[in-house]
Amino acid sequence: MCRRGTDRIRIPLDFQERPVILRALLPYYYIATKGWSATVRAMTKLILGKDVSAEIYAELRERIEYLKSKNVTPGLAVVLVGDDPASQIYVRKKGEMCEELGMKSLIIRMPADTTQDELMAKVKELNEDPAIHGFLVQLPLPKGLDEDAVIEAIDPAKDVDCFHPSNLGRLMIGNPDFLPATPAGIHQMLLRSGIETDGKNVVVVGRSNIVGKPTAVLLLQKGMGMDSTVTVVHSHTKNLEDFTKRADILIVAIGKPRFITADMVKEGAVVIDVGTNRIEDPTSPNGGRLVGDVDFDNVKDKTSAITPVPGGVGPMTICMLMANAVKAAEKASGVKS
Ligand code: NAP
Repeated sequence: MCRRGTDRIRIPLDFQERPVILRALLPYYYIATKGWSATVRAMTKLILGKDVSAEIYAELRERIEYLKSKNVTPGLAVVLVGDDPASQIYVRKKGEMCEELGMKSLIIRMPADTTQDELMAKVKELNEDPAIHGFLVQLPLPKGLDEDAVIEAIDPAKDVDCFHPSNLGRLMIGNPDFLPATPAGIHQMLLRSGIETDGKNVVVVGRSNIVGKPTAVLLLQKGMGMDSTVTVVHSHTKNLEDFTKRADILIVAIGKPRFITADMVKEGAVVIDVGTNRIEDPTSPNGGRLVGDVDFDNVKDKTSAITPVPGGVGPMTICMLMANAVKAAEKASGVKS
């Protein structure tokens, strides 16, 4: 647990247990514990998921090694139903990362015409498999399958996506077992880049259950990298730019290419762009490229820090999923370094 007091969120990631006494000492703490390169990165404008995740992977490797020294190999299973091309890529990447970290990876492919009963039976089987510490069912599911029923059938102790209502409820009350991967990744990027969140105006654009809402709830909690004053805006918000312009930290997750323009951002703001949108680009070899929800080229000079797309939040999501899998193995086995 990261904080001692009962009113502090207990962030379920041991690498956050750092002996920081005063927030004001954060830069010195960075230099002392992480060296100059991390400190310099903390002061530069571009927040890169590759760099932040590399730090976390190094910490996870140590924890995995320790688990394995006690004959526990963290096991993560991913269930893929159907043949959605994007899902296939995500699932493959998750499996590869698992193996790279020395964890057990199980990818279960089911045909697109899988019935609800068959999928529920698979979930039950994985709930009962002691070698699988965590698993997820890749979303979206083919039409006709009930995603909510599937999510609710997953044992919350193995719910590494943190989509189960019980895990989201635990996050809401500040006592989570897991954190949802993308919000946790955003939190780590802010924390490890030395960005002050305490008392800052955070505006989250988007209110999805996987990004917007849990990100808002997380940054609202008490503790390091949180304690923010959070506003959530969405497609029904009137005069959205009145809110975004007041943000010290602007987090955007709407899925609309370059929606946030320079005039919507305060001078010196920190901008976290979660969006991943494929747009046509005749100059690119495959005719398209990825852009975020923020007009990066025009917004970046106004900001004190910003995440690019690609290379920003993206790498953090899979990293935090791996962190949840390691956590699940530690909890199930009682082995913890
Ligand atoms: P989602 O479920 O489609 O939710 C989009 C949210 O944006 C909704 O709350 C919607 O509001 C809001 N919105 C849409 N148009 C808007 C507008 N014009 N003004 C204000 N709000 C608007 O999307 P998501 O799953 O949260 O994903 C958002 C983006 O992040 C996507 O590009 C997705 O690919 C990306 N993403 C990236 C990662 C990563 O790892 N980098 C992870 C997850 C998602 P309403 O609720 O009112 O409809």
